[in-house]
Amino acid sequence: GRKFFVGGNWKCNGTTDQVDKIVKILNEGQVPSTDVVEVVVSPPYVFLPVVKSQLRPEFQVAAQNCWVKKGGAFTGEVSAEMLVNLGVPWVILGHSERRSLLEESNEFVGDKVAYALSQGLKVIACVGEMLEQRESGSTMDVVAAQTKAIAERIKDWTNVVVAYEPVWAIGTGKVATPAQAQEVHAGLRKWLATNVSTEVAESTRIIYGGSVTGGNCKELAAQPDVDGFLVGGASLKPEFIDIICSAT
Ligand code: 13P
Repeated sequence: GRKFFVGGNWKCNGTTDQVDKIVKILNEGQVPSTDVVEVVVSPPYVFLPVVKSQLRPEFQVAAQNCWVKKGGAFTGEVSAEMLVNLGVPWVILGHSERRSLLEESNEFVGDKVAYALSQGLKVIACVGEMLEQRESGSTMDVVAAQTKAIAERIKDWTNVVVAYEPVWAIGTGKVATPAQAQEVHAGLRKWLATNVSTEVAESTRIIYGGSVTGGNCKELAAQPDVDGFLVGGASLKPEFIDIICSAT
């Protein structure tokens, strides 16, 4: 079976005081064992060392991005090697905010995923359609193209989690219905079965992101192809613990 996976993407939020408070909530929460759920929180780069050192050991950390190749003269970037050096096991790549605001292409995201994996990082690779694309019926084409750009560049999917995050659901309070999420997750799994292998399709976690809350997580988690969540806003609040608990 695929172990339930809950990621908390803090995005560009937090002061040192707020980080202390969130870490305290995470450390005190009653959650299922690591046999049942894998929890990964993703603070901004500057807070990664302190969060990693203060967080309960069963929770892991992720960076929100990394550079596309080996470090060097790339001002403002952080390389995959640096994350490995710091003991950061995970990185989120291809988040829709970076695809849209920073114009990261499918190919660029694919290159980043391949490079990060080659350096030993585990990757949460994000895909998702915009509202116009959903309304025009091209959701599957969009997420398939995003996934294909990754599949063309990697061989081993062991260290990849795919996050389906419909852009219209991110930060809007308009969560996908369980049926909408299940449809795309099943479609992605079918795409992997056809274009990669049945083994990869069966074993790769496909998690949902977009306005997940303590209130709506249970119903989503009950869908057969929803293997967990990537949580934004609610990952900064005590209800993140409830979302982790939706694993059982
Ligand atoms: P929200 O949970 O705030 O909608 O954000 C989802 C997201 O983008 C996680 O990566």
